[in-house]
Amino acid sequence: MPATLVAEHVNPIASSVPAVSIEDLSNGERAVALYASDLPDGYRYKRGDDAQLVSWIIQGAKRMGLDRLRRTAALAAGFHLSRQAKRVTAEQTRAHAERFPKVRRDRRTGELAALVTLYAPVSDEARERGLQYLMDGPCPECGDTRQVWRSWCVDVNADWYEEGYGPCFLCGGAA
Ligand SMILES: [Zn+2]
Repeated sequence: MPATLVAEHVNPIASSVPAVSIEDLSNGERAVALYASDLPDGYRYKRGDDAQLVSWIIQGAKRMGLDRLRRTAALAAGFHLSRQAKRVTAEQTRAHAERFPKVRRDRRTGELAALVTLYAPVSDEARERGLQYLMDGPCPECGDTRQVWRSWCVDVNADWYEEGYGPCFLCGGAA
């Protein structure tokens, strides 16, 4: 966008900080960026605050830097996934609490990010990134062996089941 280029040209600080646009951030990254921003604790959403929320997200993203923001969001996604599967390890709980010490703010920024994502689209690349996740320590389900013993139904009428190792459902079995 020409406006961005002009701003970078006249402002030497802006050229050292990579431009961040809201579309380039996944929903999870938006939540983490909000947490890192000046968003006040106890903030209450009002109609018309959307632009303010976006500017907090951009502020938080710049404050953290994109690499750290992406990694933190991936770890948060791994935590949420493990929690959904009721497999959270003590290590994950400790690491998540260290990254997000304010429990209420953590929950609230997740809600606010979802609200922003209702009207601010996520680019395909950011959406793809939003599906990836990282775990603190080994995978809580398979311990990083990437495989779990499971049984599956081959034919329900014949009551035919087979057992064997399959890819871990939690980490997806990816190396
Ligand atoms: Zn696993």
